[in-house]
Amino acid sequence: MLTAPANILSLLYRGTLASCNYACGYCPFAKKQDSRTALARDAREVARFTGWVTEQNRPISVLFTPWGEALVRRHYRTAMQTLATLPHVRQVALQTNLSGPLHWLEGLPGLEKIGLWCTYHPGQTTLARFLERCARLDAMGVRYSVGMVAMPEHYDAIRALRAALPAQTYLWLNAYDRRGPAYYSTEDLAWLDAIDPWFALNRRPVPSRGKPCLAGELSLSVDGDGELARCHFVPERLGNLYTDQLEDMLQERSCPRFKCDCYIGYAQRKDLPFQPVFGTGVLARIAPQQ
Ligand code: SF4
Ligand code: SF4
Repeated sequence: MLTAPANILSLLYRGTLASCNYACGYCPFAKKQDSRTALARDAREVARFTGWVTEQNRPISVLFTPWGEALVRRHYRTAMQTLATLPHVRQVALQTNLSGPLHWLEGLPGLEKIGLWCTYHPGQTTLARFLERCARLDAMGVRYSVGMVAMPEHYDAIRALRAALPAQTYLWLNAYDRRGPAYYSTEDLAWLDAIDPWFALNRRPVPSRGKPCLAGELSLSVDGDGELARCHFVPERLGNLYTDQLEDMLQERSCPRFKCDCYIGYAQRKDLPFQPVFGTGVLARIAPQQ
């Protein structure tokens, strides 16, 4: 039987970085150019965070959830290399468009802990190029998931991606944020749900208010200054990673929001199946058979 990863503290890190080498029309983030000063600050923040994790003893998993693209920045690659080698670190995951360098993963000690949450963005790269990147990950033994925003203009690409990826690679679908009612037809939902059996929970989130959630108990959102919140969606400050005791703030909690429609949030809900179903791959949406 699958069980949730036991007693692992998940840290969802989002620092200063806000720039991306892509320009997707549906990007949920306001894209910025990062100045040299901002990039230097981001690098210092990531190094400080990595140093803090290094000094801990408890089991920890990390998910880098940047506002922009991090894999093109050397300091994130270095941080992942460092974290993956630490015995108490169980997973080092990162959301990426997969356009950045991959050579640093070759033969990496702790490679089995790396998890890449890879999004294919039609219009920003070709399917052939994206698949070539996935094939390189497969050849190196890197664990990853692949996903797309489910928009009608992407339907052919979703089908082509599913047909081309190895059968065991989970292809997740995110509902388009700015959709109106009846955006998805019944006919299209039939095949979209067949591709991603969890798509229904993404496009039609189960109300979350009052529901038990690991956010703030075994999962925390961390910014570049170490400021802590239970998750990226509830702004209440819980303390600071570098100056406060985690034991003073980690406790059982329930969700104060009506809706939690982003996987990085609702994956932490205790009443939904993602922790036991995805196991140690939960932060990067990696299904256990991979
Ligand atoms: S790759 Fe991601 S962060 Fe970059 S523009 Fe596209 S959606 Fe936004
Ligand atoms: S359900 Fe989502 S919004 Fe609510 S506390 Fe958990 S992660 Fe945060």
